Amino acid sequence: MRLRPAKKTRKAIKRATKRARRGYVRPDASPYTLKPRLQREVIEKLAKLIDQQGPKLNTDRYTLLEIVDRLLRRYIHVPRPASLRAHMVFSMFVRPGGRIRSGVSTECHEWRGSYRAGFPVVTTVNSQSGERLMVDARKHIILNPPNGKRRNLRTIPENKCGNERCVNPKHITMVLSNPLSHQGENHPRSKFTDKDIVRMVKEYNAGATAKQISKKWGMILPYVEQIMRKEKRTEATAGLRIRGRFGYR
Ligand SMILES: [Zn+2]
Repeated sequence: MRLRPAKKTRKAIKRATKRARRGYVRPDASPYTLKPRLQREVIEKLAKLIDQQGPKLNTDRYTLLEIVDRLLRRYIHVPRPASLRAHMVFSMFVRPGGRIRSGVSTECHEWRGSYRAGFPVVTTVNSQSGERLMVDARKHIILNPPNGKRRNLRTIPENKCGNERCVNPKHITMVLSNPLSHQGENHPRSKFTDKDIVRMVKEYNAGATAKQISKKWGMILPYVEQIMRKEKRTEATAGLRIRGRFGYR
């Protein structure tokens, strides 16, 4: 099935293009400048396509925005609307409904993208290294809330509803990836929480030397240096930029 912009949309674009030729609108303006309502229409069309094609769109291989770009190229022939965010695409892959399971009071949001080993997955690209990663969609939605701060936790998702196809954030709890893990701040002899480490890094970035930090916090100097080189306590500094001799790492 091939979707083209609706007849009305095509006509509006044509009219706007004519106006543009007469010099009323910049001739190179995007179709969205020519017709502001088009953004919403395109997003609605994308939602419909994703709903129809679901698992065939391979969220295990392509990122959410890559999938959208492929659909736009193939069916809609317009650039990606600026207001379309990855979390909106995520929600297009979700179908709420079904019985309300014990343990929760709302319906499940079943994932309609790809699965690996029975678990819903999405593909992401690490913004720093450019590395492509397939991640658990349940963890992804918890760590990247639509209107909140990105979090980074060494945890794995567990469904309160018992439905492992469900990506409803209200049904997911994050548990320590290994409750017996004795790494980082969970080490029985750990004196410094991850928050302490982040504070030290901030002081270091602000100009304090490793020696000053070692003295102030009562931490041995080599350990401070190792942290700043991202060799120790890496789970606390993941995603943080740390000043180094050759720029930030
Ligand atoms: Zn659920």
